[in-house]
Amino acid sequence: MFLIDAHQDLAWNMLTFGRDYTRAAEETRRLEAGSATVQHNGDTLLGWLDYQRGQVGLIFATIYIGPKRRAMGDWDKLSYETLEEAHRFSVLQMETYHRLVEAHPQKFRLVGRRGELDALLGGWGPLDAAPPAGESVSASSLEGSGHPVGLVLLIENAEGIRSPEELSFWWDGGVRLIGPAWAGTRFCGGTREPGPLTPAGYDLLRGMAEHNFILDISHMDEQAVLQALDFYPAEIVATHANALALLPGIESNRFLSDRVIDGLLTRDGVIGVIPANDFLDPTWRSHRDKERIGLEAVAAHIDYICQRAGDARHAALGTDFDGGFSVQTTPREVDTIADMQKLASILSQMGYTSEDVAAIFHGNWLERLYRILPE
Ligand SMILES: [Zn+2]
Repeated sequence: MFLIDAHQDLAWNMLTFGRDYTRAAEETRRLEAGSATVQHNGDTLLGWLDYQRGQVGLIFATIYIGPKRRAMGDWDKLSYETLEEAHRFSVLQMETYHRLVEAHPQKFRLVGRRGELDALLGGWGPLDAAPPAGESVSASSLEGSGHPVGLVLLIENAEGIRSPEELSFWWDGGVRLIGPAWAGTRFCGGTREPGPLTPAGYDLLRGMAEHNFILDISHMDEQAVLQALDFYPAEIVATHANALALLPGIESNRFLSDRVIDGLLTRDGVIGVIPANDFLDPTWRSHRDKERIGLEAVAAHIDYICQRAGDARHAALGTDFDGGFSVQTTPREVDTIADMQKLASILSQMGYTSEDVAAIFHGNWLERLYRILPE
């Protein structure tokens, strides 16, 4: 089953840790064994071979920056102090994707237009085909073949956008989704930093709507989300966020309240569920406890959204793999992104039809992309 993953911080990993996603995850792990990268960000879940094995054909690849006040350590070198720095680090990441697709056109491709999406999907054949048997997909068997993985660029934290006038520069560079916040920004409250949409935030949304950017509310504070749901006329999604109602005892504004979920459903939005243990189970604490959580917990979050919606047209996946989540902090069945295919049979056992599973794996994101992509 063709899989769209709505959230991977590839450029941040490439620039911060020198990760090379043209390699297999296994190879990256071997090269990083015992290094500071593993201490800071765990073992990778991503690599091109694993995308092939897991039929991961399209990724919303982020341009992610965080403010210095929330830096994770000295090594977190893309954290910014000034708006100029935020801009520079964001441009650097966009250019990183441009260089990646230029250097490896058989492996990665930017998708910013309908024709590009058509061409990408055409290359994969039937989107609901079963994945190839694991062992048959090796690096050597894919030499000169395999499918290019599409990248739709997503800004996570818009602080690097200096003014709404600059939005056409980002659109021309391939960005199609924008999340105004990560922590709080000058546009609105964000994770652990509550607050409403500011006048600058409204200006940003006005500019975004003119271009038809998809608004990603994942890290926005609830107050700002509710304002945006009323105000923003174009597509609204949460690329990577889980339901607060399934996380009893947690009060973080990083999770979606029922009010926000229902608001997104009213706006025909899509929510990408994050398969990370501490986002699935509030009692999960230890990196040594991978075995305790299974993919059925991911299915439960998907099911929660589908039950509220009354259909399977609004739930999807946004793994955020390698964005602070690693082999150590994901469900027991997950060794690499390829294992997300195992979710299909779990959903089927819960009564989801093959059409439902296809919608969750790719159809729901495709529908929104086709609505906004230019010819
Ligand atoms: Zn995030």
